[in-house]
Amino acid sequence: MPPNLTLVDHPLIQHKLSLMRDRETSTGLFRQLMREVGLLLGYEATRDLPLGETEIETPLERARLPVLAGKKLCLVSILRAGNGLLDGMLELVPSARVGHIGLYRDPATLQAVEYYLKLPDDLPERDVILVDPMLATGNSAVAAIARLKELRARSIKFVCLVAAPEGVAQVHGLFPEVTILAAALDRCLNDHGYILPGLGDAGDRLFGTR
Ligand code: URA
Repeated sequence: MPPNLTLVDHPLIQHKLSLMRDRETSTGLFRQLMREVGLLLGYEATRDLPLGETEIETPLERARLPVLAGKKLCLVSILRAGNGLLDGMLELVPSARVGHIGLYRDPATLQAVEYYLKLPDDLPERDVILVDPMLATGNSAVAAIARLKELRARSIKFVCLVAAPEGVAQVHGLFPEVTILAAALDRCLNDHGYILPGLGDAGDRLFGTR
């Protein structure tokens, strides 16, 4: 297992992912599952958020109790498929700031081309969880991470559903400090840059565009 790659092998995630891989799964169910898995992956991705203490009056007595220590999170979605995972994560951390990076894959070169960027101004004070369901060639992830670094995000974690070994190697070759969380590490890419066995085009399956 490559260092700095965490596979989240929770049975609920594995079960839901297998349903998502099924070509017969409808757009509606696929979207619902993506949201649910987003929430569960978000649970793992936020595991190391620091806690502080505050005084709370329970119905019986006053107690010092744990609360999040005000760490500033920013969820960043790589458009458009990232929005499926983002929705689930936002259910978990509704107060997180949200950024969007629009990237498309040039079908000839498979290189990522940026067409949209909107991020909070105070990125240097924020820990970023970057989401995109498929880490395939790694080109989109690398382009997004490079942009976030340029804007001096305090830290970056990358969360995906399915990773390919090629994508993990590409990201960690350039950014070894970026932790990758994935539900599965699949076998390889095909000649068109799709993950095998994968689940097809995550954006098309999420939005029913093909
Ligand atoms: N993007 C997808 O949506 N699926 C893949 O398999 C690879 C890239």
